[in-house]
Amino acid sequence: MASTGIPLTVAIVGSGPSGFYAAGALLERADLDVKVDMFERLATPWGLVRFGVAPDHPKIKSVSSVYAKIAARESFRFFGNVEVGKDITRDELTERYDAVIYAVGTQGDRKLGIPGEELPGSVAAVDFVGWYNGHPDYADLTFDLSCERAVVIGNGNVALDVARILCSPVERLAKTDIADHALAVLARSNITEVLVVGRRGAAQAAFTTPELKELPEFTESGVDVHPDEVAEFPGEDELSKVAKRNLGVMRDYAAGDTELGARHITLRFQRSPVELRGDDKVEQLVLGRNELRTGEDGWVSAHDTGEREVVDTGLVLRAVGYRGLPIDGLPFDERRGVIPNEQGKVICAEGGAEREYVVGWIKRGPTGIIGTNRKDSVETINRLLADLDSGALRQHDRDGSADIEDWLAERQPDLVTEQGWQLIDAAERAAGEPHGRPRVKLCNTQEMLRIALNRANAEV
Ligand code: NAP
Repeated sequence: MASTGIPLTVAIVGSGPSGFYAAGALLERADLDVKVDMFERLATPWGLVRFGVAPDHPKIKSVSSVYAKIAARESFRFFGNVEVGKDITRDELTERYDAVIYAVGTQGDRKLGIPGEELPGSVAAVDFVGWYNGHPDYADLTFDLSCERAVVIGNGNVALDVARILCSPVERLAKTDIADHALAVLARSNITEVLVVGRRGAAQAAFTTPELKELPEFTESGVDVHPDEVAEFPGEDELSKVAKRNLGVMRDYAAGDTELGARHITLRFQRSPVELRGDDKVEQLVLGRNELRTGEDGWVSAHDTGEREVVDTGLVLRAVGYRGLPIDGLPFDERRGVIPNEQGKVICAEGGAEREYVVGWIKRGPTGIIGTNRKDSVETINRLLADLDSGALRQHDRDGSADIEDWLAERQPDLVTEQGWQLIDAAERAAGEPHGRPRVKLCNTQEMLRIALNRANAEV
């Protein structure tokens, strides 16, 4: 790569997996003189790995050590507790950096659009996940677990995460980094059954086999599957490998090898939520029975038969997918909930986005596992570097990142640097150690700032 003598400066907005993979892809290029600054609205990095991945999945969370290595590189800086659009603006970033990469994920949830959805007791799984994972924005939410049956709508891995957490013995969860406030509420839960409802069939479920297979071990109970819903059917050979494996696991559950425990998960299919009923909170869920039809393209869709069934419940969690939110001034595809892009380069009909790129879920939608983001971020970085080569991306004639710390200190005096985050990290790990937990999460930003700033200052 041709050198101008001035380093390429890149700002990454968001510090989740896709942001870190983008940083890594830039910093590991030996032929590139590059500086990467990562901006994060919260005081802590790692995004979905800290706040999305379930606390009882420590192996998945251990990928954070890869991010810590990237953060330790000399040409990398972390600026936490800085909100783009509030403390600093998009334009200020493009004025100072050669390229700006948005790695902001999908922070909204999808609605069901049915009567009664706004009743207390009807909640987004996204909120519940944020709450039990100690996300500061969700830490003060309250969830009423006094009913006996909870219902989870959706058949993705988030649905299974939420169902598993609600059904796991509290002693198991107590060994994880689940937020303490959630642990206390789960310990008093009256829930004995979590009904997970899919609108299509068992063969169309979006969850992956390891997540399905681990349920009995984690919940210490069998899983209730109705044999008729997983019966053999013509054309089964054409299914994907994952669908075939999932069916195999569910058939084992239906055969009832493991006893149902006092608290268990029930999987039911071909049912859509139609209405939530209750006087001042959710008391019942009306489900519509669906029939499946296969289109010419092979896609299997659900169609209402008009048949209804009513389920008593006090808690309905919709786990029907995340949704990206628009960024002021950048184009937005309302239908898909993503920022329109070409290999990660933001497409802007009116021009003006020539320095801006996207990675991760805001680029492609909320799909794939954590590792999927590595390839996705590499694609964006390749495009950025190709734009640099072709002249489509012109470097500024000075290193605008040199005086960034002073500028940021003016805008956000409570800036959390990598050093500040390490103090928070160390405090959390130390609090977890005596209890055999990986960490005890701090869920309050002010408390985190006290640790990150006071001690950091004391050490200087
Ligand atoms: P997802 O995998 O896209 O699943 C969404 C589910 O919601 C699908 O079953 C979908 O059914 C259903 N749905 C959508 N609209 C609905 C409606 N109106 N009524 C009823 N059902 C509806 O999304 P997710 O569970 O949020 O997960 C997001 C991504 O994160 C996925 O790629 C997932 O694998 C990943 N993830 C991975 C892990 C892990 O690796 N352990 C954990 C959590 C999340 P249709 O198929 O019929 O549309």
